[in-house]
Amino acid sequence: MQDNPEPTETILILGGTRDAADLAKELVAAKPKARIITSLAGRTREPTPLAGEVRTGGFGGVQGLARYLTDTGVTCLIDATHPFARQISANAIEAAKITGVLLDIRTRKPWKKQPGDNWIEVETLEQARDAIPPRARALLALGSQHIGLFATRDDVHFVVRMIDPPEQPLDLPDHALVFGRPGDTAAVETMLLIAHTITHIICRNSGGMAAYAKIEAARQLRLPVIIVSRRD
Ligand code: NAP
Repeated sequence: MQDNPEPTETILILGGTRDAADLAKELVAAKPKARIITSLAGRTREPTPLAGEVRTGGFGGVQGLARYLTDTGVTCLIDATHPFARQISANAIEAAKITGVLLDIRTRKPWKKQPGDNWIEVETLEQARDAIPPRARALLALGSQHIGLFATRDDVHFVVRMIDPPEQPLDLPDHALVFGRPGDTAAVETMLLIAHTITHIICRNSGGMAAYAKIEAARQLRLPVIIVSRRD
């Protein structure tokens, strides 16, 4: 009997999201003979442990990804990245075309405005920054790479939620840091909003359930949400 029989299929999940982690768990359980690999960009210092194999870091553009697919014998590529991670999704489409590997796109649909939502919809993060009224207390629910954009708003108190502590002090004049992942329930998010006397939430329309609790909490508290829409 062989110790390591050839996998029947090799699935590469482009991850970095809770959806991708759930999918890896599901596929590992459902396909015991398959090789399930999740690819992470490597932005989070301590990513949540994942089922199956994990590889980390960029591939080196479309050509690098195409090479990886071929060299690793990937039979199916699943794009489960964040909907605003546009470059890797575009690369996946091109690399799948080049290699002929099946591509399954599972990026999340945007949230739809519900009755009671007080959304100020904008197209860019710059517009979101400019839409914050003076003297607001704003929860910045954005990736750390976007925080610097808000540095010019010295008339706003920011509360910044981050998974990892920043390597450098944040370039924001007036802010408080909150560490951790988004709360799972509206009740948890409501407590945060009340504790920091938040008047506005700044976020992008990411879709999915993982970050939706803050939208529900804002609805319950009737808080305005300055939300960057999706272009797709
Ligand atoms: P991006 O702009 O689409 O990608 C920039 C580059 O990062 C890509 O060209 C690729 O480098 C590398 N990369 C991105 N995702 C990768 C992955 N899953 N595996 C290997 N390399 C990856 O992406 P981003 O907005 O920086 O997001 C990076 C990762 O964080 C994604 O996996 C995404 O799911 C996750 N994430 C993003 C957001 C967000 O707001 N954008 C929020 C939560 C989680 P090469 O060209 O060298 O291959």
